[in-house]
Amino acid sequence: HLSKRLQVVADLVDEGARLADIGSDHAYLPCYLVEKNKIEWAVAGEVVQGPYQNAKKEVESRSLHDRIAVRLGDGLAVLSPSDSINTVTIAGMGGSLIQSILEKGMEESKITGTEVLILQPNINERTIRDFLVQNQYEIVEETIVEENRKIYEIIKAVPSDNPLTYSEKELLFGPILLEAKPVAFIKKWKSMQQKNQYILSQMEKSESPDEKKLNTLRKELNLIEEVLS
Ligand code: SAM
Repeated sequence: HLSKRLQVVADLVDEGARLADIGSDHAYLPCYLVEKNKIEWAVAGEVVQGPYQNAKKEVESRSLHDRIAVRLGDGLAVLSPSDSINTVTIAGMGGSLIQSILEKGMEESKITGTEVLILQPNINERTIRDFLVQNQYEIVEETIVEENRKIYEIIKAVPSDNPLTYSEKELLFGPILLEAKPVAFIKKWKSMQQKNQYILSQMEKSESPDEKKLNTLRKELNLIEEVLS
């Protein structure tokens, strides 16, 4: 049984994928997918000893060690070409960390840019979308879920034949979420609006506010107002 958030990630994985789940912690996601026979085989990668041990225990206790390789290492460094990975999931980390893991993986040829990516950043979704555009990915699915009073976005992207551009608004809010505007999306951006308004009011009170930051904040607030109206 997966959390609502991880269930969304699982549902977006294609049937028969060869999966790398990076930052897998207990390896709940690959275990679920293999047990459901939705996928054949997976790598569960972890950089921290504790979570790595958790993953190993989980996989052993469910007798899935033939189908899930649990590996200790930084990001995508745990992969080798013979793994023939075609799908990468990274969930439950900040957007900047996810982006740096993917970038490093590209540089070190651990991934080729042809893999399906399913990403669930806890914050900074925009950073992820910037990365996707720069690497000629197309966003094909976006979902937003609320769990334990937190709101999470899940983004699925596939390599595209032609370079894509997204507008400022699409990069910030997500091209698909922006169209659908689900309940959790409205809730998230109302709360972001309040947060930003507060930060802005505090900054405006300061003697020497950072003009660049002020402008960015004002621009973002304008976009939020537009989207919510
Ligand atoms: N993916 C699971 C989920 O979504 O429920 C676990 C999320 S947990 C909050 C984040 C995990 O990512 C931690 O176990 C942490 O050790 C791992 N992690 C952080 N940086 C990593 C990196 N560079 N490479 C591999 N794992 C990393």
